Amino acid sequence: MAETAAASTFVERAHKVLGNTKLRGNFRRAMDGLMAKRAAQFADIAAWKSLRARGAAAKRRVLARLPELLEQLEANCTANGIKVHWAETTHEANSIVLKILQDHDARTIVKGKSMVSEEMHLNAFLQKHGIEAIESDLGEYIIQLAGEAPSHIVMPCIHKDKGEIAELFTRHIDGQPYTEDVAELTDAARRVLRSRFAAADAGLSGVNFAVAETGTLVLIENEGNGRLSTTLPPLHIAVMGIEKLVETLDDIPPLLSLLPRSATGQSITTYVNMITSPRKPGEKDGPQEVHLVLLDNGRSRVYADNQLRDTLRCIRCGACMNHCPVYARVGGHTYNAVYPGPIGKILTPQLDGIAVAGDLPHACTLCNACVEICPVNIPIADIMVRLRREAVHPSDSPAVMGAGCKHTATEAAVWAGWKKMYASPALYRMGAKMMQRFGNMMPGGMPLLKEWTSVRTRPVFAKKTLHELAKEQGYSDV
Ligand code: SF4
Repeated sequence: MAETAAASTFVERAHKVLGNTKLRGNFRRAMDGLMAKRAAQFADIAAWKSLRARGAAAKRRVLARLPELLEQLEANCTANGIKVHWAETTHEANSIVLKILQDHDARTIVKGKSMVSEEMHLNAFLQKHGIEAIESDLGEYIIQLAGEAPSHIVMPCIHKDKGEIAELFTRHIDGQPYTEDVAELTDAARRVLRSRFAAADAGLSGVNFAVAETGTLVLIENEGNGRLSTTLPPLHIAVMGIEKLVETLDDIPPLLSLLPRSATGQSITTYVNMITSPRKPGEKDGPQEVHLVLLDNGRSRVYADNQLRDTLRCIRCGACMNHCPVYARVGGHTYNAVYPGPIGKILTPQLDGIAVAGDLPHACTLCNACVEICPVNIPIADIMVRLRREAVHPSDSPAVMGAGCKHTATEAAVWAGWKKMYASPALYRMGAKMMQRFGNMMPGGMPLLKEWTSVRTRPVFAKKTLHELAKEQGYSDV
């Protein structure tokens, strides 16, 4: 995978990975299983649509009042004893986390799953400052041992099979014999991680939903590692993107019903953690201090654009990845981004800019599968098309960094010619005649056609145009 990530464009990386039949098999099996489990959960389509409407409405209401609700969250968290920090960039967020850890002389932290911490590249940053971050989610632990990035936002090591994990454990865990028995592998990870939880100076987690009304942080998980990371160490730091907000506790049930069912096909996760304060006098467990770091990293810019803002409804269930025909074939690392799959294809160019990730919105067939299943009804395909357009023809919106950077004179000339021809019946007829006569003589390898014909059979131009055929059939008004 490291080899694929090193290649420069999505297309180059995809071509490499498409030849890896083992990897493709791992993804295909996993995605088929996840799709079937999700479908079983939402067998009643009317009920699913109604639940989805409630989930989408809850997130829409948040976006309608985001600045005000963030202030409400801060006020309520502070009143509850949670210290709130604001970070405009990932660098600022990393520095805040580092300062908190240094103030507590923390040398090791255990981490629950957090995609925002991946966005911050927090582990590498802390390592540079002599602080060890140990991933405690089993999937994250596995890829940390492998020195890789997550390939899926919910199941980070989904690209690996049992044999690869067994080899990793044998190599990295003292005394661990090679076994492909899943229970034994899980036991081995648990043995290692239990001692790390007990010895850690701090715990760090993400946040699935923060409730503005009560200042509550909601975290869901299946392994208990999230609860251990947030209760066992004396210090808990939560990091979240500013969009992970809901207005009231009443918004939580529909979203909790949508998220795990969409993500893994589970009715509910094994653990639902609701953190509202540090340990209070007389309580037996919980950290003495809780900090919440709110990360912007371009989200305010996205928020300012009425269409792109819908991206911020995402609850990171990963279902769009599971159903994406492109993701299922090329896997997460091919995107070379923290967020892969359909949501990554629209979010990454918005956060990092078109100049950095402008090829991602093109890595899409616009089949609409992601839109069909998104539990908060994000119009992913519409936003994808908007970003493609922004890449070559910027709108007035300042929301997209690097808009217009993919505009090339050749492409502009081709589209201008196409527009002219389709606007004039006479020119169109002349063009059609030319293609009819000479189209089949064009060599497939000529520069403008090469990209298309290298992976597709070249179409054969018909001997007669549709107009001619229609006239032959007796239609006179064509
Ligand atoms: S875009 Fe929709 S389907 Fe994809 S991760 Fe976000 S909420 Fe889930």
